Amino acid sequence: MGVFGIIGEERTDVASSVYYGLYALQHRGQESAGIVVNDDGVFTAHKGTGIVNDVFDRERLESLGHGNMAIGHVRYGTLGTKGVMNAEPIVINHVKGKLAIATAGGIVNASVLKRELELQGMIFHTTNPAEVVSYVITKERISSPSIEVAVERAMNKLDGGFCLLLMSPRKIIAVRDKHGFHPLCYGRRENGQYVIASESCALDSVGATLIRELDPGEIVVFSEDGIKCIREHCGKAPEALCVFEYVYTARPDSSIAGCSVHEARARAGALLAKAHPVEADVVVGVPDSGLDAAIGYAKESGIPYGIGLIKNKYIGRTFIAPGQDVREDKVKIKLNPIKSTVNGKRVVLVDDSIVRGTTCAKLVKLLKSAGAVEVHLRSSAPPFLNPCYYGTDIDSKDSLIACNHTIEEITQMTGADSLGYLRLEDVTKLGDGGCCKGFCTACFDGKYPTETPVIIKNKYDSKISDNDNTDE
Ligand code: AMP
Repeated sequence: MGVFGIIGEERTDVASSVYYGLYALQHRGQESAGIVVNDDGVFTAHKGTGIVNDVFDRERLESLGHGNMAIGHVRYGTLGTKGVMNAEPIVINHVKGKLAIATAGGIVNASVLKRELELQGMIFHTTNPAEVVSYVITKERISSPSIEVAVERAMNKLDGGFCLLLMSPRKIIAVRDKHGFHPLCYGRRENGQYVIASESCALDSVGATLIRELDPGEIVVFSEDGIKCIREHCGKAPEALCVFEYVYTARPDSSIAGCSVHEARARAGALLAKAHPVEADVVVGVPDSGLDAAIGYAKESGIPYGIGLIKNKYIGRTFIAPGQDVREDKVKIKLNPIKSTVNGKRVVLVDDSIVRGTTCAKLVKLLKSAGAVEVHLRSSAPPFLNPCYYGTDIDSKDSLIACNHTIEEITQMTGADSLGYLRLEDVTKLGDGGCCKGFCTACFDGKYPTETPVIIKNKYDSKISDNDNTDE
């Protein structure tokens, strides 16, 4: 999931800027998109399911009008939270005004908080934990002197790996959880507008210069009075940046914790080459997620890098597609081999990760049918062994191939000639040269930096559905 916000002194076409920002963050979620424009306290919103381009056209953007601030969101629907009703930003009216809320990541105590609120008579319209966040903040707002104090108090109640972007009539407030699981940064445009985004590539897309990343646990308030930082609200916690941001989630042209994502991936490839060398003729990366690591592998091993697979650029990430049948079909139409690169060659095939094992099995077959004599599979992430509760949709151990099979079995099942994963002890080296002091590697080693969630289900939770785009 990705968040984007912009705030300045003048009334401008902020909707278009958010649109471009969300466009740059599209890789963080394709399930739904939404923008809320704030024109002197009047909020105009639109959100819908699909990619940014499906949800917004020129007319729709114009209908949002001008304002001096706006926030937007792209959503990556985790299990049970899909559909337009769960699209963000959520806009609420509370006793002291309006609030728009966009979230990214996972709140592990959302279910428990929701049940507490329901027992006090609150009703929920969505299955999105962002709605729980909105209640927690507005409850605090009643007894707080300002929205930022309410947010500060709410942060003591929320547990998990998440970022929040909130817009009140006069302020935008950006928040990173105390472990700093997911990235959040801000910058400034030449015209003085501040821009806040999940990734630095989105700042680039609107011509903003990165000022800095938020610290773990930091709350930054943007208003006409300038910037105010609140750092001490929920005590100290060990830093736990999601290492999967470097491996897969973020765009390679972003920088996280002061470290280029491209460099981090190339480093993963080099470490992989050291741990799992093999005699081969060409190194091929799986587009797009494996390309940077393949370059690193090739450089370290001295084996030439080659373009061996071409991706149809007009197709989304395979993983997002619902249902196993759709996922498999999409792999076939998504990637095509270049015969001249692989024919008669021993190929090292590098992808960023092996989750269910569907993609790599198809690709090994594809490369062999294009004439590769050997295919050596390399994953620039360690084996996925545990579910993630912080926003990555890796939900059950049953679907994780590494949970249920040995390396030898996976090698055989995928048809590869050998298989090598990045070593667990190497994964935390990806951010070398950056400023991150600790990583969350729970999907690989099961060491969760927070409590794991207790899920309390309501009878109606699985029955809620809604297909239409909505205006507010
Ligand atoms: P699989 O076929 O299940 O082994 O999926 C592996 C592919 O999915 C790799 O090419 C990854 O780039 C991609 N992938 C890994 N994790 C995720 C995720 N959480 N969301 C979307 N795609 C992912």
